[in-house]
Amino acid sequence: MSKIHYFDIAWFSSVDGPGTRVVLFLSGCNLRCPWCHSPHSWKTTSPLLFFESRCRNCGKCAEVCPAGVHKFLNGLHHIDRSQCNHCGACIENCPSSAMNKWSTGALGFAGKETEVGELFALLKPQLDLLKHIGGLTVSGGDPLIQSKALAELLKICSAEGIHTTVETSATLNQSHIEELLPYVGHWLIGLRPSPADKAEDRKQLLKNIELLADYDPDRISIRMPVIPGYTNTSGTYEMIVEVMHANGIKSIEILPYNPYSESYYNAMGLEYTLKGTPSPGEEEMTGIKNIFASAGLNATIIN
Ligand code: SF4
Ligand code: SF4
Repeated sequence: MSKIHYFDIAWFSSVDGPGTRVVLFLSGCNLRCPWCHSPHSWKTTSPLLFFESRCRNCGKCAEVCPAGVHKFLNGLHHIDRSQCNHCGACIENCPSSAMNKWSTGALGFAGKETEVGELFALLKPQLDLLKHIGGLTVSGGDPLIQSKALAELLKICSAEGIHTTVETSATLNQSHIEELLPYVGHWLIGLRPSPADKAEDRKQLLKNIELLADYDPDRISIRMPVIPGYTNTSGTYEMIVEVMHANGIKSIEILPYNPYSESYYNAMGLEYTLKGTPSPGEEEMTGIKNIFASAGLNATIIN
């Protein structure tokens, strides 16, 4: 079986597909949306994350790093990730960190590599509990990046009678989707037209929506995050309605912008360009929902 890279598991979710579900977050994404709330998932191999507020400034990381990544200048901890070889020595030597516990330490790598069968064995006890009221949702990142390993995992789920949902921005070519078709019970497709889109990504997404809708439009829900200045611009809603009507898709989920992701950008040494952007209020979200509802669509706000 193939190796698979993931960076998180939510063991209980009622907003990520039909019913109550385990959500598996796979690493790797071909897009770089400025509002992404998990930039640490962009690559299948995570960059070194550094959460400054958990650092004791003790210097033990610099003592063991063979590549000179950690430097202390005027009491400040500087990190040159370009030199990092992912050996993990600094994490092991850090009194504020622990291997495989990146979300609670000062240093860490967001991600694990395992074999598909081993990952399924880890998920199975909880999936058995939820089997009759939900199933497994695979999100990311974008899970289509690892389509071969994903297909293996979905086939196991199918054989075990576990309902599957895949959440994707669907901008990779169709070879990443075709093999999955019989094994995916529901698709959550990100459709969020914005000025940040590349024309070729938009074109591929529309082709993929057609492919999925030809297979079964009732297996698709469109997901649209409301990102101020990006996706809540004039023409966006009309374009989404047009695509949904053309493909016989009836369900759309609207998600307000999540403003709490800046710490991940800081941990990666990246600038967060949406800093200070407020989340849309209840009135705006209800107004958007009503636009879709009045076009005959089944619209839901997901908070
Ligand atoms: S993972 Fe290894 S190379 Fe990278 S910063 Fe830590 S000790 Fe240095
Ligand atoms: S070893 Fe850990 S706590 Fe100490 S300076 Fe390095 S990151 Fe901070």
